[in-house]
Amino acid sequence: MSGRICGKCGRAVPGDSLFCPFCGSPVQQAPPQTQISAPRRDLAGPLFGGGVLIVLGLSFWLATSGTISWAIWWAYFLCGLGALLILLGINNARSGKDSGPITGGVVILAIGIIAILAWSYSISSWWPLVLIALGLLVIFSAVLGHKITRR
Ligand SMILES: [Zn+2]
Repeated sequence: MSGRICGKCGRAVPGDSLFCPFCGSPVQQAPPQTQISAPRRDLAGPLFGGGVLIVLGLSFWLATSGTISWAIWWAYFLCGLGALLILLGINNARSGKDSGPITGGVVILAIGIIAILAWSYSISSWWPLVLIALGLLVIFSAVLGHKITRR
């Protein structure tokens, strides 16, 4: 017994019936889950959008203040963007949605980190290894995302 009451005839409706067994009118489904998770889902978009702007602003600020070179600021932006995508993907996976952003986030984050390292140490011979590393990361993150959704 879930203790729901028919809105039309006022009698108790047993179990999870969609219709009142006494008068036949549809009984409102009021699971507390949807009401609680709805605002959380709406927040994911604005939080991600705001996060992207903040990361972009920080990258520009680092470049304009001379902390990092204008030639590499985009790699810092990619790192922040990748981290945001991973967070978004984990959030999605926890609420039972697509964990695909995790894969994209890991790839973007890896490109950013490797680009910064390659720039810092002036090593251009790394780039073929980048592709191999990215391939492994895609597979790894897919397995990771799968585990999170299955938990
Ligand atoms: Zn009824």
